[in-house]
Parts: sequence; C-alpha cells; structure tokens
Amino acid sequence: MLDMADITIVGAGVIGLAVASEVATEGREVYLLEKNRTFGQEQTSRNSEVIHAGIYYERDSLKAKMCLEGNKLLYIICEQNGIPYKKCGKIIVATNDVEADELEKLYIKGKNNGVPLRMLSRKEMKQLEPNMKGIMAFLSPTTGIVDSYALTRYFYGKASQNGAQMVFNTEVVSIEKLSNGYNVGLKELSGDSSLKTRVLINCAGLYSDKVAEMAGINTDEANYELHWCKGEYYSVAGGKNKLINRLIYPVPMAISVGAHVCFDVNWRLRFGPLFYYVDEMSYEVNGSRRRDFLESSIMKILPFIEPSDLEPESAGIMAMLQEKGEAFRDFIVRHEYDRGLPGFINLIGIETPGLTSSPAIARYVSHLVNEILKN
Ligand SMILES: Cc1cc2nc3c(=O)[nH]c(=O)nc-3n(C[C@H](O)[C@H](O)[C@H](O)COP(=O)(O)OP(=O)(O)OC[C@H]3O[C@@H](n4cnc5c(N)ncnc54)[C@H](O)[C@@H]3O)c2cc1C
Repeated sequence: MLDMADITIVGAGVIGLAVASEVATEGREVYLLEKNRTFGQEQTSRNSEVIHAGIYYERDSLKAKMCLEGNKLLYIICEQNGIPYKKCGKIIVATNDVEADELEKLYIKGKNNGVPLRMLSRKEMKQLEPNMKGIMAFLSPTTGIVDSYALTRYFYGKASQNGAQMVFNTEVVSIEKLSNGYNVGLKELSGDSSLKTRVLINCAGLYSDKVAEMAGINTDEANYELHWCKGEYYSVAGGKNKLINRLIYPVPMAISVGAHVCFDVNWRLRFGPLFYYVDEMSYEVNGSRRRDFLESSIMKILPFIEPSDLEPESAGIMAMLQEKGEAFRDFIVRHEYDRGLPGFINLIGIETPGLTSSPAIARYVSHLVNEILKN
C-alpha cells in the first residue's frame, strides 16, 4: 500500500461499493477495506430487493431525496448493464377504517414527495389483484425489484475498473487523526498493519457508529448510536406466487414498512420482513415468531395463504438510528469538519431504502469528496 492514499472507504456493502465506483477516478489512489472475505455479506445480501419509490419518508429528508433519485438511476443502471430487475409496481392496502385513514395520509405524503401514485377504485383493485382483500388501496407504479447481488457485483466491477483497490479480510480497528489525514489501524489475516489516507469514508453499515467512535466522535452526544433490527422472512410454498401479480404491502403501523409480499426477479414468493430489535448478530429463524407472523396484516390481505404454506426462511439485520417507538430518523451522510475531523465522512443509519438510494448516495458523497480534495 501507498504512504498516503487519497481516499479510503470502510465497508464493501452496496453503499461502499457504489461510493467507490463513483469516487475512483484516474490519478486517485482509492482503497476499499472490508472485514469479510468478500463484498456484500451483511445488509446488502439480506434484504427485500425492492426498488422503493419514496413514499414513506419525511418531505425534503435525505431518505426521500436519495430514494427518488436512486429509483430513477437504478432502472437506468439495470437496463444499461443487464442487471435483472422488474418494474412490477406495488399496491398498499388497508383492511379496516383505521388503516384506511393511515393509507390516505401515506398517499398524500408520497404525492408530496413527488412519487407517482394512483388511488384505486374497488373495481380496479379486483382487476389488478383478484385474490387480494381490502377496503382501500393505492398503486405505486415505479416500485420494482432488483437482483441485489447483480447490482452489487456491478458496482464492484465498476469500482475495480476505475482503479479502486479492494482489500478483503481487513478490519478497521482504530483511526488516528493526522495533520493531513488519518492513520487507519487494520487487523488483517497476516497480522496488524496501518494505512494513511487523506479522505476516510465510513460505510461500515451495522458497525458505522463504532467506526465513527474510533475517530473520536461521542456517538451518544452526536445521536449516532445504532440499534439493530432483525427482519425475518418466511417462504410461501405451493405455487401461490401465481395468485399475486405485483408487490403487495399492508399500511405500515409499526417498525418500518410492515411484513409484505416479497418477490425476487424469478418471482419466488416470500413474506417479510417481520422486524424486531435485537442485541446479537444471529441470522437464525427458528419459527418462534410464527404466531406474530400469522397475525400480521399481510395474512388478512391474502387470505388464500394457509398457515401451513409458510416456512421460516432467512433473516437480515438492519442498522437503524430509530430506537423502539422513536419517530422518523433520516440517513446521516456528513462531512465531519465541524467536529474537527476534516476529510472524514460518515454514513450512518443507511437502512431501508439504502439499496434503492445507493447510486444517489454515491453521487452525493462524490460531491463532498470533490470539495474536500479541491482544498
Ligand atoms: C431485512 C432488510 C430488508 C431491507 N429491504 C430493503 C429494500 O427492500 N429496499 C432497499 O432499498 N433497502 C432495503 N434494505 C436496506 C439495505 O439493505 C441497506 O440500506 C443497504 O444494504 C446498506 O448497505 P451498506 O453498504 O451500508 O451496509 P452493509 O451491506 O451492511 O455493508 C457494510 C460493510 O461494512 C463492513 N464493515 C463493518 N465494519 C467494518 C470494519 N470495522 N472494517 C472493515 N469493514 C467493516 C461489513 O463487513 C459490511 O460488509 C433492507 C435491509 C434489511 C436488513
């Protein structure tokens, strides 16, 4: 490795890779450090693969802006690079009056964010999804699904092609501020080492608060502490995927968007994620939450699903800034110069819709980097 790299990125999830693909240009020495043996092993490969439209997020928030821009960019990237995707659309459905009130609020919120949405008549609901039950629904035609592995692989290829060096099995364990950058302490398979860098970008996903702490930020005061939220998926057997034509979501009443219909690009059907907060890193799905699952709204919307159709399948853990019961929290994408850390950029709480937002976040970070390197 060089004496002083220009840019070092911590974490090779979809965000770190998208950022690397954008900031790596000729003449820049860029490193991407990843503790796992390869890229995309954490949140990036354990999600619903939905290209979100931008409905749920507070107006003018980074989540709303990045999601809307990312949605447009993702379809272009997928189309131009042979990445499997489906612009299948989604329906959000209310099953009672309380949910109908919330659905209307959500519709207005989405519209105010600039998302194309259409309220459906009862007749249209029947035409579009004959097997769906509900009293009110709207359609989001720009929601879709993407093969998340193929997308991540694309960013990896683009970043490598642009000259970024990927260093796997390498964990960042300390960060020391220098007069002109940072000395990053590394734990590698072969032992300990370090790397000096002018710009340091924290894309460490579930551990991004810990990486911020290494740089000396008091994460409690900064309100950067992450809470892990586990989402469980259940597979749906018996060819019932043929009875659903697009993504179907309940009205969100608890954490995140609620357990919903998930399809992959091959139209394999799953339900989930059913979210709950955890302290431990375990992807085990033992079926003990089956009852919560069976009582979730999605079962009311699709009554042709029998409890025996559902099998515990997989889980993902999401890096949430939002504590249990807390209101909306936005993505943090921030150059920390005013904390005395010039050249240090934090990306914290990049939970859903992070996959969708990845190309937009990468552009945003690239602007910050250009500003830093200009000076
Ligand atoms: C259950 C679930 C469902 C979701 N559904 C959707 C969806 O449908 N649509 C959508 O848009 N988004 C969705 N998301 C969100 C999306 O998956 C994330 O926003 C996105 O994957 C975040 O990517 P990342 O690169 O920030 O994090 P990660 O993929 O977690 O990558 C971070 C990387 O940093 C590495 N790392 C951490 N610490 C260190 C260190 N000290 N040194 C070196 N490397 C380190 C990790 O090993 C990891 O590879 C979902 C997430 C979950 C969990």
